[in-house]
Amino acid sequence: MVNLLMDLLFPQRMCCICQQPGMYSTRQPWCPSCDDKLIELQHVHMICDRCGKYLAEDCGSSLCKDCKNRTPPFELSRAVGPYEEPYRIAIKVLKFMGRKHLAYRMGKMMAEVVKNEPRFWPIDMIIPVPSTRASIKQRGFNQTEVLGCQISKELKLKMYCNLLVRVKETPSQRECSREEREKNLLQAFAVKNADCIKGKNILLVDDVFTTGSTSRECARTLLDHGAGKVKVITWATGKGY
Ligand SMILES: [Zn+2]
Ligand SMILES: [Zn+2]
Repeated sequence: MVNLLMDLLFPQRMCCICQQPGMYSTRQPWCPSCDDKLIELQHVHMICDRCGKYLAEDCGSSLCKDCKNRTPPFELSRAVGPYEEPYRIAIKVLKFMGRKHLAYRMGKMMAEVVKNEPRFWPIDMIIPVPSTRASIKQRGFNQTEVLGCQISKELKLKMYCNLLVRVKETPSQRECSREEREKNLLQAFAVKNADCIKGKNILLVDDVFTTGSTSRECARTLLDHGAGKVKVITWATGKGY
C-alpha cells in the first residue's frame, strides 16, 4: 500500500540502472534488459563454498584463498550476484541516491537466495550489519536495515536492529587495505542483551561482501556472545582470487 502510494506520488520514468526511459515502479524499478543481465550473472561464475566469493574457472579448489588461509567465523555467506554492473549500480543508487524503494526488489532477490539454499536453515532471527553514525546521518537510513526489513517480510522471520550495535566509528573503508579494514573494525561492534541471541541461528544482512572483514567481525562478536551459528546474505560479492 505504501509502495503503491509512493509510486503514484513519485512516478519513475527511468530505469534506475541504465536510465532507459519508461514507466517503472517499486515492484519493477529496472528495465527488462537489466533484469535479464542481473539473472544471467547469477549463474556464470564458480563460487567459494564457504564465503560465496567468485572463483577463477581454473582455480582447482572449492575455497577461495581467504577461506583457505583463515576459516571465517560465519558458517556460510552468499550473495545475489557479483559486485559489477548492474549489481554495483543498483546498490549505489540505493545507498548514495537515497532510493530506498529499491530495497523492495533487492531484498526479495536476497530472500530468494536464502530460501533456495538449504544450508542457510534453520534461521531464528535476522540481524542487519549496523552502519556508522556518520553514514546514517548522511543517508538518513541504514541500507542493511531496509534490505533486512524486506528479507524479514519474505522469510517471515523477525529482524532485530538493536542487538548488534556499532560502538566504534570507522572511517570510510572503501580505500583501505584488508589489514587496515580489520584493524579499524576490531571491537567496532558489541551485543546488547546477549540473552536474546544465546544459541540462536542468525542471518546477518550486509549490502556488499568485499574483503569479508565486516561480516567476519560481526559474526565473531555475535559468536563471542553466545550465538549458535551465523550465516550471511549480501546483495553482491567480489572475486576471491
Ligand atoms: Zn535498465
Ligand atoms: Zn571464501
